[in-house]
Amino acid sequence: MQLNPSALRLGTETAFSVLARAGQLASAGRDIVNLGIGQPDFPTPPHIVEAAVKALRDGAHGYTPAPGLPDLRAAVAADLTSRSGQMVDPGLVQILPGAKPVMFFASMLLGGPGREILLPDPGFPIYSSAAAYSGAQPVCYPLVEENGFAFTAESVLSRLTERTSLIILNAPANPTGGVNDREEIDKFIRGLENYPDVMLLSDEIYDRLVFSGQHSSLLSWPELAGRLILLNGWSKSYAMTGWRIGYAVWPPSLFDYADRLAINIHSCVNAAAQYAALAATTGDQSAVEEMRQAFARRAELITGRLNAIDRISCQAPKGAFYAFANISQTGLSSEAFQDQLLEDYAVATVAGTAFGQMGEGFLRLSSASSDAAIETACTRLAEMVAKLN
Ligand code: PMP
Repeated sequence: MQLNPSALRLGTETAFSVLARAGQLASAGRDIVNLGIGQPDFPTPPHIVEAAVKALRDGAHGYTPAPGLPDLRAAVAADLTSRSGQMVDPGLVQILPGAKPVMFFASMLLGGPGREILLPDPGFPIYSSAAAYSGAQPVCYPLVEENGFAFTAESVLSRLTERTSLIILNAPANPTGGVNDREEIDKFIRGLENYPDVMLLSDEIYDRLVFSGQHSSLLSWPELAGRLILLNGWSKSYAMTGWRIGYAVWPPSLFDYADRLAINIHSCVNAAAQYAALAATTGDQSAVEEMRQAFARRAELITGRLNAIDRISCQAPKGAFYAFANISQTGLSSEAFQDQLLEDYAVATVAGTAFGQMGEGFLRLSSASSDAAIETACTRLAEMVAKLN
């Protein structure tokens, strides 16, 4: 076999290997508490499920236009326009099978040998995997605990070179819960004026899950219109991770290429999921707020419980649904901690290093789990730490 060398550069998402191992242990009879994978433990709200069922009953069984149903693209554009205060053109909205493909599309379109893609560390692992697969060099900018894991304009701008083609930003952030402040974004955008060819990918998938501080969508800066790729979707806010639907808003110069990639790769998103997303976007939003409140309360619960454990500390996340706990005082590496906690105490979490080198000394725990699961996980974690030397 003559494998394309790019395949050797593909990374992975450790959360999925932890999920698989937790599944094996559970089928062997272990009482697993899973705070590994990041997904809401709520079902999709019933009116959204009903819209998909109705679509299937009404015969929505065929292909849809590649970039998505016109009504759905219009609904997404209207929603973004009303939330950002800037006009979003439905013609630039692309519906995709999950938000994740946007990362790959952006890297395939803007990466390649000789290019550099800037991304957060710790950050979602697929950013660097997709950048490396394209042939580009992933270049990390650090997010540090002392700064609440928010990005600083300086740490990103200082890493720009003439080879930089794309900067990836994510807020509210996975795995840290960091949210960026408006002044820092302003500073960053002013600095970017010297780099007119650099494009931005803003991953705002957790935009409705904010507990403190304020999330500012990069869409609300009109000067970014020609260079901003927005990534968002329904997975986290509407508890729709398994439906596989998300969206991008592309700048006009990239939309047609992204559309071609879609036609080459997946043709379109299944129609029933698109009708579900339409109902989610245009229907009653009270479930989104109820889930946000539940995640906010659980974020407090988990950080409180973790901070009560000797040698563990955890900042309160400002958004998303993860606690990023500092375990560096325990003497274990992140990976050793993750493995011991899973194998010996049946609690699934993800080592901070799954999100980059800066994640060493941290452990990600998903707080999108029941209070009981959070309590049990923290009790077991405390037992483990108490037994360490
Ligand atoms: N961005 C971030 C930061 C995420 O955490 C995730 C999911 N874990 C995604 C994007 C992907 O979302 P989707 O499931 O819609 O592909």
